[in-house]
Amino acid sequence: MVTPSTTLCPSARAEEGALLLGVVGPDQAVRMLSEPERLTPELTEAIAAVDEPEKHFRFANRCVKSGCNQWQGGRCGVIDRVMSVNQHLAASTSLPNCAIRLQCRWHQQSGPSACTVCPFIVTDATQTREERLAYIDSHVVQ
Ligand code: SF4
Repeated sequence: MVTPSTTLCPSARAEEGALLLGVVGPDQAVRMLSEPERLTPELTEAIAAVDEPEKHFRFANRCVKSGCNQWQGGRCGVIDRVMSVNQHLAASTSLPNCAIRLQCRWHQQSGPSACTVCPFIVTDATQTREERLAYIDSHVVQ
């Protein structure tokens, strides 16, 4: 259950109880909603009708730490990997509006720099861990 003090993964799967966090635009950048919307059974069903919803929306849900295969060394390996291939980026002075910043695992780990790359990250829940790491490695933000 997600409470106001729950640390959230900002790249979760589309499943009931998750929060709809943003929408992927035609330029593949994520537009954050001003207020995340919880996936009710009805909304979950509607989103499930979309082919590969994680490619069209971003969802947040409870960070399950070692219950996730991206968890490495007590940290989220996704944002660490993305940050390591985007070291040329300075943290933007104007961060994207984000309603979950105080609870976000990526922001807790990497601070405002995570928010600079975050809109360019599209979740692909179909990938294996190896495919996902290869995807991240090829995902350098210009
Ligand atoms: S990394 Fe920043 S912009 Fe992205 S979800 Fe976390 S707090 Fe929000």
